[in-house]
Amino acid sequence: MNVLVIGSGGREHMLVKTLNKSSRVAGVFVAPGNAGISLEATCVDINETDFDQLIDFAKEKQIDWTIVGPEVPLTKGIVNAYREAGLKIFGPTKEAAIIEGSKDFTKGLMKKYQVPTAEYETFTDAKQAINYIKAKGAPIVIKADGLAAGKGVVVAMTEEEAIDAVEDMLLNHSFGDSGARVVIEEFLDGEEFSLFAFVEGENVYPMIPARDHKRAFDHDEGPNTGGMGAYSPLADLADSQVDFTIEHVLKPVAKAMVKEGRAYTGLLYAGLIETEAGIKVIEFNARFGDPETQVVLPLLENDLIDVIEAVSEGHDPQLTFKDAYAIGTVVAAKGYPGAYNKGVTLPELPEDEDCYVIHAGTKQVGDTFVSNGGRVLLVGSVKPTVKEARASVYRYLTHFDHTDDFFHRKDIGEKA
Ligand code: ATP
Repeated sequence: MNVLVIGSGGREHMLVKTLNKSSRVAGVFVAPGNAGISLEATCVDINETDFDQLIDFAKEKQIDWTIVGPEVPLTKGIVNAYREAGLKIFGPTKEAAIIEGSKDFTKGLMKKYQVPTAEYETFTDAKQAINYIKAKGAPIVIKADGLAAGKGVVVAMTEEEAIDAVEDMLLNHSFGDSGARVVIEEFLDGEEFSLFAFVEGENVYPMIPARDHKRAFDHDEGPNTGGMGAYSPLADLADSQVDFTIEHVLKPVAKAMVKEGRAYTGLLYAGLIETEAGIKVIEFNARFGDPETQVVLPLLENDLIDVIEAVSEGHDPQLTFKDAYAIGTVVAAKGYPGAYNKGVTLPELPEDEDCYVIHAGTKQVGDTFVSNGGRVLLVGSVKPTVKEARASVYRYLTHFDHTDDFFHRKDIGEKA
């Protein structure tokens, strides 16, 4: 069969690698893809939100399944458009993708169905928001309601910082419509982790937990980023906590979405935090997470297409995972997440039996790859122990020792 993947980052590169392992998949197409992806699939230059062109392409190439990577096409209704055209697509409808698209909606859902999460209020009026901040005190968390490419959250350590964030969003409209409403939330302290699940209505099939590293620099210092590396599974997270997450977060939320007339289909990402008062939800995403996908999918033993088909038809996909550990470290352009240069030549990236290289922001110029984004690539490894996986990744990263144009964290997986 033929499969079309939508998106252009590291997550999509890993989806392509996974699909290429399937004996059932003959052709993998990606819109629009990136330089690394083009070595392993056919890239087509169609924008991820140009639904008409994507649907025409899917019909022309007899695409059996389309898999959506990023959130924007989902919240804009790509699944609705595909279904209207009678084509198969893996992801939630616009009505269900609101679980990522509006933090106010999702906080309200969790409150209504008693899913554990931080206490909160939503505001459109700056004065009322500021009064709330003054009443609650810092630390406190300010979130733009809508999508903001991972930049709409301010974890404010002081009241001033919190007030600045509110003024920025509600008075200066720095996130446009996405920040026209703000969620102000209790600060939670603890270790974060995420858990993906395949969902079809009330049926929930969880994968294995992973941990991203959001801050730019070692030991969780520096600004928040799209993610600087990840590992999976988590030896430091008790099985009982994973069971709690499945029973008290994923299953009730899937049920709640059905009750609300927004039945969820696709991959649901739960972002969680293990606090002293137990597990709480930080956020939901309506798609595979990046970079966690780059360490979770290499551990999946099933054929991804078998899983997607089983789940879509309402059957248990019987997920099984390798008894091994995966870690992945992101190489970023110097300056990221602030200003950085593009077009910088990458060192040679030789094949390595212990590691895999996932492209995120790269472009091919002649015979070489150049950087084309903040997060450039990820180097990953799967081994029987975290220690061996870490050693392989960091050995490979010595290829970057002789350049000042890129950086990576040295402590990915250290907590494990
Ligand atoms: P993403 O890019 O992961 O989709 P997002 O912009 O949707 O992120 P959140 O995941 O809600 O935003 O928050 C981003 C980060 O901010 C979290 O991973 C967490 O580190 C921190 N954070 C969010 N909410 C809280 C909270 N209540 N207490 C402490 N930290 C928080």
